[in-house]
Amino acid sequence: MFGYGARAAADDAWLISNKQNRSDYLYERALKVMVGGVNSPVRSFRAVGGKPIFFRKGKGSRLFDVDGKSYLDYVCSWGALILGHADDEVTEAICRAAMEGTSFGAPCEAEVKLAEEVTERMKSVEMVRFVNSGTEATMSAIRLARGYTGKKKIIKFAGCYHGHYDSFLADSGSGMATFSIPISAGVIDDTIKHTLTLAYNDVAMLENVMAEWRDDVAAVILEPIAGNMGVVPASKEFIEKARELCDKYNSLLIFDEVISGFRVARGGAQELYGIKPDITCLGKIIGGGMPVGAYGGSRQIMKHIAPEGNVYQAGTLAGNPVAMSAGLATLRKLGMQQYEQLERLSYMLEHGIKAAAEENKVSISINRVGSMIGIFFTDSDVKNYVDARKTDAKAYSKFFHYMLTLGVYLPPSPFETVFLSTSHSDEDIRMTVESASKAFQVI
Ligand SMILES: *Cc1c(COP(=O)(O)O)cnc(C)c1O
Repeated sequence: MFGYGARAAADDAWLISNKQNRSDYLYERALKVMVGGVNSPVRSFRAVGGKPIFFRKGKGSRLFDVDGKSYLDYVCSWGALILGHADDEVTEAICRAAMEGTSFGAPCEAEVKLAEEVTERMKSVEMVRFVNSGTEATMSAIRLARGYTGKKKIIKFAGCYHGHYDSFLADSGSGMATFSIPISAGVIDDTIKHTLTLAYNDVAMLENVMAEWRDDVAAVILEPIAGNMGVVPASKEFIEKARELCDKYNSLLIFDEVISGFRVARGGAQELYGIKPDITCLGKIIGGGMPVGAYGGSRQIMKHIAPEGNVYQAGTLAGNPVAMSAGLATLRKLGMQQYEQLERLSYMLEHGIKAAAEENKVSISINRVGSMIGIFFTDSDVKNYVDARKTDAKAYSKFFHYMLTLGVYLPPSPFETVFLSTSHSDEDIRMTVESASKAFQVI
């Protein structure tokens, strides 16, 4: 048997003699033991072509691959890392917590503190339940909505992604949109028939469908700022109508703020829109880079969950001190100053890229809310999933690959969001705009 050192040395010798880079070598090995070489489909680069890159480390706004090349990172672990990679305080919080035990399977102080922080930031959330992923949060939220209302149907919108629970796998965005699979195999008709998928931002359609199914709709679930068909914000009118109709027909309004929560404002998208949802789903940022999700709402609704109520939901590692401490350290660093800084840099990036595209006569349309940026290759506005699908995905792929060679890591799909972190600098943005300018000349 090789020791680790000997194994690494043998690997290096082999790589040198075969002139192969380590990332490709790892990918070949990965393909044999993991489906598509990855543990989440969009990482596979299928949407843009080429091979995924294996990374060794991240620090601040930068990622370093296993071959030593560095990249400015605009994926930020799909938005989770709002402070950038390996933030000192978050890392310290994780280490401190881990040294005192990673999980008790019993209550701890950190989960109380994180729950207090979340409820203080979001007025619609009086109580919260922590889970381990965004998918668990949305899945549990609709179970709660069904249990609370006694109704069956849920309304969702094409292009909004709510994780991979069966009920949501109808015309969804993200990886699903990329692969153009309308419904996943393995999801049975009996489940999907209770999901109504409507067009995003279409007020009339929502009104008509709610009126038609008036007694049957348990919940309307939406991303208030969609981040899984590129970035597409809901219009104020659309959100207000959704609130009004849910009140009228006794359905619950669920905001999936897994991306937008704590990213676009201190209190999430609901603060920007001035609308109180009945249930809010959280994930990504709330875990500070650890696997965490959460759902919350008023006391009156939340008390229907076990052990107080009869809607069952549980989790062995839910609320563990390591993940809770990472989330808490992250949220505690996010004050007004950080949101202003993110807005300033994101504005610079948006306008820099727009100017570079104009100069080179490339048609692009950018949707941006705070540090969520969607770059579409099109000359029209993008307001829903149909618009997003009509944009030039091939141009995006070319842009993506050219930027990659210049050391800028953008999301490997035209239907994902460009995210900034507080560790991105003015210099990072200037370098990115310069790279984009070069890329626009050749695509
Ligand atoms: C990422 C995401 C989810 C799913 O979260 P996971 O942690 O990947 O399960 C749900 N909703 C939205 C809006 C997301 O962006």
